[in-house]
Amino acid sequence: MATHNQSNTIDFDAAKLQRLGYAGRIQKTLKPVSLAQLRQQLSLRLQTSLEAKRILELFYSEVQRLVPLNALSYQLASCDLRLDLGERGNHSAGYRLNHDGEFLGELTFRRNQRFSEEELAQLESLLASLLFPLRNALLYRAALQTALRDPLTATGNHVALQQTLKREVDIAKRTLQPLSVLMVDIDHFKRINDSHGHIIGDQALIAVANALKDSLRNVDMVFRYGGEEFVVLLSNTSREAASMVGERLRMAVLGIQYLVEKRAIEMTVSLGCSTLLPGESMDSLLRRADSALYVSKREGRNRLSMAG
Ligand code: GH3
Ligand code: MG
Ligand code: MG
Repeated sequence: MATHNQSNTIDFDAAKLQRLGYAGRIQKTLKPVSLAQLRQQLSLRLQTSLEAKRILELFYSEVQRLVPLNALSYQLASCDLRLDLGERGNHSAGYRLNHDGEFLGELTFRRNQRFSEEELAQLESLLASLLFPLRNALLYRAALQTALRDPLTATGNHVALQQTLKREVDIAKRTLQPLSVLMVDIDHFKRINDSHGHIIGDQALIAVANALKDSLRNVDMVFRYGGEEFVVLLSNTSREAASMVGERLRMAVLGIQYLVEKRAIEMTVSLGCSTLLPGESMDSLLRRADSALYVSKREGRNRLSMAG
């Protein structure tokens, strides 16, 4: 029976998008007839992604339909974002992108031939189409990072740990590389809060998180697991190597010079270490690190125990 469909769902499949001039490679071969036309198409295409790198790649390939280029580079240090497309070029035209007083990064076009005045004007005009999509992508990126980060210690949060651990376990299983986990818990942290107050306690937590990050090659692998507990993921790290890293972290925390009213607060951590077994789940890997941590606590704290 035929039904009358009144919903407002618009279903764009790939073929339809291509017909409308959005998708894929075919479009690259089309030559726009005018700057105005390219600007219009560019602003549509740049809306198809929220990822800064993808947007810049699209921009680079689209712009070349009007102004040939050898390379484009972009960087925004505050977001740790950097992209180099193409090779090199002897001539360059650099722009600092600003929108409403907000700095959106530096972008440089490069080419082996000089840019004519007309081409520079065209590039500048096309850059205007990049501003909004790029700003939205940067906001999106910042929102994602906030959603995955513990605001106090700037380490990864629980969501980030679950995502990263899943990825690392998959990689370890696929590549047969070892994966180890360290569970790190501050000893008698309650005493710090009780004798100095919560604010000093917070500062001490930040100091421990920084000591952990400073002692590791990959700072993105430190996560706040609970109140005063951290998890460190060590990819491609065997049990023996992980035990050395664990010792290094223990010493790093011991070496923190955290002064309150000119007196150093002594801090120590207990650690538990586990290494992924064949066929083991991520929950089990964490659980074994936690059990090893518990052994360290029971045996007097300020030490590392290896899971059996
Ligand atoms: P143990 O050596 O057995 O680990 O002793 P502990 O005192 O560190 O452990 P316990 O689990 O008894 O207490 C943890 C304390 O951590 C209690 C809680 O008030 C404190 N804590 C948890 N999260 C935060 C935080 O964000 N800021 C501050 N200042 N304290 C916190
Ligand atoms: Mg503790
Ligand atoms: Mg604890």
